[in-house]
Amino acid sequence: MANILVTGGAGFIGSHTCLVLLSHGHNLVVIDDLSNSSSVALERVAKLAGVGFGKERLQLIRCDIRDQAKLEAVFTSKANCSSQLEAVIHFAGLKAVSESVAKPLHYWDVNVSGSTALLAAMEAHECRTIVFSSTSTVYGEPEFFPLTESTPTNPIHPYAQTKLAVEQILGSLAIAGPWRSACLRYFNPVGAHPSGSIGEDPLGVPNNLFPYITQIAAGRHEKLRVFGDDYLTDDGTGIRDYLHVMDLAEAHAAALDHMLQSRAPLNLTLNLGTGKGLSVMNVVHGFEAATGVTIPYEMVGRRAGDVPKLEACPKKAEKILGWKAKRSLADMCRDGWAWQSANPNGYRGSK
Ligand code: NAD
Ligand code: UDP
Repeated sequence: MANILVTGGAGFIGSHTCLVLLSHGHNLVVIDDLSNSSSVALERVAKLAGVGFGKERLQLIRCDIRDQAKLEAVFTSKANCSSQLEAVIHFAGLKAVSESVAKPLHYWDVNVSGSTALLAAMEAHECRTIVFSSTSTVYGEPEFFPLTESTPTNPIHPYAQTKLAVEQILGSLAIAGPWRSACLRYFNPVGAHPSGSIGEDPLGVPNNLFPYITQIAAGRHEKLRVFGDDYLTDDGTGIRDYLHVMDLAEAHAAALDHMLQSRAPLNLTLNLGTGKGLSVMNVVHGFEAATGVTIPYEMVGRRAGDVPKLEACPKKAEKILGWKAKRSLADMCRDGWAWQSANPNGYRGSK
């Protein structure tokens, strides 16, 4: 059991990870500015975990990660009540690729300056254990598969550049002092907790395939536009490595345990995916088979900046953490639909 600071813990991946960490007995302080999330997510996490919200096991502090003074005050106040923060899981940040192209300075500010503010606050309080949310997009448009952690990185947009920059900062810190860090390169997390109480709730029209499909099923959009059917893939549509968000949440608990148990400094980089890529049409048909809901679609041109294929080699995570994605596409679709059908408008207007 440890006291953990979770930045961005009210968001999609953060809320599911908080639930898993609570079930492992950890005490959590979440800092989030709620710019892309709702505190209702954490109220529901508390309910699912059977803990009080706002009490010792799960607290939410509304804070921007760029506010170093406020971050330091969080570390100080926890230390003063003998519940010193021992590690950080750092989800907070911006993640929309096209927005990053339009507003690069904002992405460098939130994702990189926000991370350095957090790391400085950690250093000042001798908390040097961190799990960082990185992304498969650091590989750019790779030619050779499967992608291992030693595949050369080639970020092709500001979002991926900012994530790789933070990975590099963590590499520098590991050389300079006794830091333990794990950069987790997520492939495509989808689905929801099987209860349907928490899930993905993007603001506005979703950019990503999976929430767009669940929102079509909920009647919020008419049809899916499939971006490109002329890729060199079996059915011509783009391939990604989709993994269940609960598998991803469990990987964070495993990474945290691994680091807390390690006496030596660590600077890990791990791919998190299933190792099995699926095309857009595989996902559409998989969703229809798992839920019985038809997804109307039309083929349109490629989306600017999309790559044909991303698929992980997840063996290093299995070897080091003993973690492996175990849920199927049918599980991702069933659980994602349980969430969207019970919450057609997400957390908005709900209590
Ligand atoms: P999310 O937007 O649901 O969660 C991010 C959280 O960070 C939100 O709760 C948001 O309110 C908060 N936040 C944003 N800016 C902040 C700031 N300046 N200060 C404090 N809080 C702030 O996104 P997610 O899908 O849960 O992603 C979590 C992390 O994983 C992100 O860093 C993202 O880049 C990374 N990631 C996500 C995916 C994906 O497909 N979802 C894939 C790879 C990596
Ligand atoms: N995609 C699509 N229609 C959509 C959204 C996405 O055809 O409305 C495709 C996209 O071109 C890619 C795949 O679905 O091949 C996954 O896209 P997503 O944005 O979810 O993930 P990313 O491209 O960031 O890995």
